[in-house]
Amino acid sequence: MNFNLRHQIARELLGNIDPDGYCQCPGIAQHTGRNGTRDCLLKLDGAPTLYCVHTSCGATVEGANATLRRRIHAAESGGEARPVRDFAGDGVAGPPVAPRSPKYPPYDPTALLAVAGRCRRPVTLDWLADRSPVVVPLPSLQGQGTGKLFITSLYAPGEKVLVFTRYFSQGDFLMDAGTGESVRLADARAVAAVPSALPAAGAEGVWFLTNPVVGDWKIQPATAPGSTAKWGRRHGACVTAWRYLLLESDDAPEELWLKALCLLPLPIVSISTSGGRSVHALVRVDAASKLELDAVRDVLRRTLGPLGADCAALSAVRLARLPGCLRLGKKDAAGKYTRHESPTLQRLVWLNPAADETPIIDLAK
Ligand SMILES: [Zn+2]
Repeated sequence: MNFNLRHQIARELLGNIDPDGYCQCPGIAQHTGRNGTRDCLLKLDGAPTLYCVHTSCGATVEGANATLRRRIHAAESGGEARPVRDFAGDGVAGPPVAPRSPKYPPYDPTALLAVAGRCRRPVTLDWLADRSPVVVPLPSLQGQGTGKLFITSLYAPGEKVLVFTRYFSQGDFLMDAGTGESVRLADARAVAAVPSALPAAGAEGVWFLTNPVVGDWKIQPATAPGSTAKWGRRHGACVTAWRYLLLESDDAPEELWLKALCLLPLPIVSISTSGGRSVHALVRVDAASKLELDAVRDVLRRTLGPLGADCAALSAVRLARLPGCLRLGKKDAAGKYTRHESPTLQRLVWLNPAADETPIIDLAK
């Protein structure tokens, strides 16, 4: 993606954007609550999206997102292929340009059907939960203790896991996997953490960073032209072990996705639900470095993308949903928040810290 181009288009549409991506909401006139300077956040990677904490401006924000994506798409599809005229003169060609290809292999429902078809028995969440190598609590008994069981089972003594109730924060809680003790973190660097249990629920759920971190602030170097170095607790320099990758699917039908997960010769240490319609699996890689984890990631994207795996979620620094926690509501694509009639559970169904490459179907007899 061309960050500078995207940024320029966004500025034309939205006005000033601060270095962290905050800008004035295009629907500010419709806000019914008090305005803050960090209400409206612009994300330019992937599908460019503007998020506003207010809900009354939803339709306007949705419209702005549609315009933003249309203009960026038009600029990127037309702009990049145009030859650059760096030399004048007869017969001088422009520089060769790489052919445009999709970033990730697309989901291929027939490929998933073919793989899932090799699983001869029905696989459901309950069937897995009944056979989990580490006993998982019944859904009605899952809660804060489940999150703690999950973290202390999957991370080593001394490792720290960052937990989030706000997706874009720098982390709201931190658990020591050895002691099972946790703290609530401050947003400001100068403010000390206080002892606290992990949260039982979040407005949009609860997440954890899939790889362990130091737990302190570290400087994150500028990642793109136009951005600046900043302090963070959740970026690559904070990670202490490159252990896991997240496999999730929003596209694959649950029944087929579960069958595929059961057949894969991968060390799947956990399977849980999102509290929505997707099912997540955590795969142990134990890479020596981020480069090595990225290499494994690339192989998994190529092989599992067609089966419906979300290729963007397969990355080294990634938030996943913390099992045992409740999700109170959700935001739609336009950022409009709706509270669920009753909270949904991010349910743990499979926990196997000692997983090797034996497919689950051979373990869960
Ligand atoms: Zn707004």
